[in-house]
Amino acid sequence: MKIHEYQAKDLLATHGVPVPRGVAVTTAREAKRAANDLGGKVVVKAQIHAGGRGKGRLVAKQAQTAAMYAKLEASPATMEGAVKGSRVGGVRLVGSADRAQAEAKKILGNFLVTHQTGPAGKKVQRLLIEEQFAIADEYYAAVLIDGALGTPVMIVSREGGQAIEEVAARDPKAILRVPIDPSEGFPAYRGRQLAKQLKMPHATIFQAGALFAGLYRAFLASDASMAEINPFVVTADNRVLAVDAKVTIDDNAAFRQPVATLRDKSEEEPMEIMAEEAGIGSYIKLDGNIGCMVNGAGLAMATMDTIKLAGGEPANFLDIGTVNRVELVVEATHIINLDPNVKAILVNIFGGMARVDVVAEGLVAAIKKYRIKHPIIARLNGSNVEEGRRIIEASGLDFILADDLGEAARKAVKAARA
Ligand code: GDP
Ligand code: MN
Repeated sequence: MKIHEYQAKDLLATHGVPVPRGVAVTTAREAKRAANDLGGKVVVKAQIHAGGRGKGRLVAKQAQTAAMYAKLEASPATMEGAVKGSRVGGVRLVGSADRAQAEAKKILGNFLVTHQTGPAGKKVQRLLIEEQFAIADEYYAAVLIDGALGTPVMIVSREGGQAIEEVAARDPKAILRVPIDPSEGFPAYRGRQLAKQLKMPHATIFQAGALFAGLYRAFLASDASMAEINPFVVTADNRVLAVDAKVTIDDNAAFRQPVATLRDKSEEEPMEIMAEEAGIGSYIKLDGNIGCMVNGAGLAMATMDTIKLAGGEPANFLDIGTVNRVELVVEATHIINLDPNVKAILVNIFGGMARVDVVAEGLVAAIKKYRIKHPIIARLNGSNVEEGRRIIEASGLDFILADDLGEAARKAVKAARA
C-alpha cells in the first residue's frame, strides 16, 4: 500500500526524523492560510501516489494516449491542455501566501503527469504546504528489504534529488548499501559512521545519524517494504531535513497498520478496489484487450503468457480464487467487462476446489444481468465439467468453447481482432 508524502513525513517525524513544518490542504484558501501560518515563504507540493513530481507536467485534462504524452515531454509549454502559465509540475517554491494560493489554484483539480504516473497522469486533490529552506546539498537515503540477503538494507548516496535508478546506472559507486542485522537495528552511532562515509559536513554528523536511525525505526514500525527520503538535505545553515518522503507498506501487514487513516482509495485503480470488495482473489488491470478470468495465480500467469504467444495482449491479471459462489463469477465477469479496452473474454478454469458448474452458471447469469456483448471463449476442465458444459449449452448463448489453453488463446486473439 502506498501512502502520501505528508503521511510518510508524519510517520518519519514520529520516529525522530527531522522534517519541515507543513500542512496538508485540499483548497487554495486553505493553502493560503497554511502558508500564512508558516511565514509566507513556502513550498507547494502536489500529493499524488507517484514520484518525479518536481519534473512532472501539469495538464488540465487527462492525457489519454502515449502520443499525447510524448508531445508533453517534448514541449510542455505548447501542449494543448497544459495549464496556462505553468510549464512545470508539482513542486513550486513561492515567496508569499498569496502566491501559494495562486499556485494551489493552478494545481488542484488538474492532472500531474510524471515518469511514474503513465500518460494519463494523476489528478491532484491535495497539496502539502511546507516551510521553504535554502538548500546547500541534496542526499539520498532509503531502507528496503534485500531479497538476496534476506535482511533490510540501508541505501544512501550523495546524489540526492534525482531518480536513484539513473544514478545507479550512471555511477554505481555513488551508492552505498549497508545491510542491517535486524537484531542490532540501526542505532544512531552507525548513522553517524554512515554520515562520515558520505563526507557530510562536520556540523551535520549528529543530525544525519539521527535521521538514518529514525528512518530505520519508521521502516520497522510501519511494516514498510520500502521507506525512502529523496532528498534529505543540508540547508545553508547546516540543518538536516527530510524534504521528500515515500513509504510503501507491505500489504501482508495491513491488518496491524492504521490502514483506515493511511489508505487513499482515490489514488488506486477503481476496478481493483471493486474486485477487492467483491472478494475476488486478485485483479490487476493491464493495457491489452483480452479480459481473463482464471482460477489460481499460476494458471493466470500461464494464461497471460499463452495469450501473448498467440499474438494477443491480456487486459488484466485475474485470479478469481476458489470459486464456490455464483455471485463471485458474476461480479468478476462484470468487472472485466467494465474495462473499455476489453474486446473478448477468455475464461480458463481448471476445477479442483473450484467447480466448473458454478463458473458456468455465473457466466450465464453475468451475460444476462450485465448484457455482455463480447465473445466469451471458455476452456473449462475439472470438477463437474459435464454439468458445466450442460449449463452452457442449455443457455442458448454464444460461447466459444476450447479444449485446451493454446486453442482458447488463439480463438480469443482472433475474436478480439474481429
Ligand atoms: P519529487 O520530484 O516528486 O521527488 O518531489 P521532491 O519533494 O523530491 O521535490 C523535488 C525537488 O524540489 C527537490 O529535490 C528539491 O530540489 C526541491 N525542493 C523541495 N523542497 C524545497 C525547499 O524547501 N527549498 C528548495 N530550495 N528546494 C526544494
Ligand atoms: Mn523526491
